[in-house]
Amino acid sequence: MTAADMKLVVVGASGRMGQALIRTVHAMDGAKLHAAVVRPGSPFVGKDAGELAGLGPIGIPVTDQPLEAFVEAEGVLDFTKPDITVEFAGLAAQARIVHVIGTTGCSAEDEDRIGAAARHARVVKSGNMSLGVNLLSVMTRQAAKALDATDWDIEIVEMHHRHKVDAPSGTALLLGEAAAQGRGIPLAENAVRVRDGHTGARVSGTIGFATLRGGSVIGEHSVLLAGEGETVTLSHSAIDRSIFARGAVKAALWARDKKPGRYSMLDVLGLN
Ligand code: NAP
Repeated sequence: MTAADMKLVVVGASGRMGQALIRTVHAMDGAKLHAAVVRPGSPFVGKDAGELAGLGPIGIPVTDQPLEAFVEAEGVLDFTKPDITVEFAGLAAQARIVHVIGTTGCSAEDEDRIGAAARHARVVKSGNMSLGVNLLSVMTRQAAKALDATDWDIEIVEMHHRHKVDAPSGTALLLGEAAAQGRGIPLAENAVRVRDGHTGARVSGTIGFATLRGGSVIGEHSVLLAGEGETVTLSHSAIDRSIFARGAVKAALWARDKKPGRYSMLDVLGLN
């Protein structure tokens, strides 16, 4: 660790991603853990952040005071819940620091409030922080552009662990957005997010989603481009949460010297 290392706060520190983030910040060059924040009144307050993440003691007690933690920090890594993320966006804007947001399931209103915070904070937000999925989204955009919408149907299939609360996943929506961009159409008006009962035949040009939930699956995504007599499948499997955590730290380091504003992982990875 050196004095030049970026001081990062992990919020939602007791969560699945929060723990992965603590381990990753601890292991990665160029970053150091400044604070670990949990929900007010959480039983983890005062415990050692390293112990919480299975690393052994690292001398940083877990806190439930986010503003105090943000004031001296340079960045926040946030994989929590939409309402909490909106709150943290306001605090990160106040502290004028980097806010990396992995939280999914944000509403249009949440996005507006995050956009307002990005006037003062450097916000990097993505439904998936892994290099592989961002590459997949570029490939999806290209494939959707190359294959005629009247002849090729696009369906996005995802599976996640049984605890996931939003559907379709942020990644499935990110891939749907990439397909819609490739076709030059708005996703919102062309997405079919659920099918049930007598739905009638598939409407040409729509982008369909199918959601599976079960077990401990970290994240499986496939984009199927189905034509007459052939199907192209582009897919990604997440084997370990550290891929998202490494992407998040990389995003924070990238955003360190950027101007306030809203950025995506495609910006961070130079894929835009
Ligand atoms: P999780 O295990 O439920 O973690 C969420 C954490 O947020 C919990 O520890 C929760 O604490 C905490 N939290 C709730 N209120 C809080 C508050 N006021 N202050 C501080 N912490 C608070 O969920 P997860 O699997 O880690 O996923 C979290 C989010 O990241 C989800 O939206 C998921 O879809 C998303 N995700 C994104 C990516 C990506 O690459 N973009 C990858 C994986 C997951 P309590 O349990 O004490 O309430």
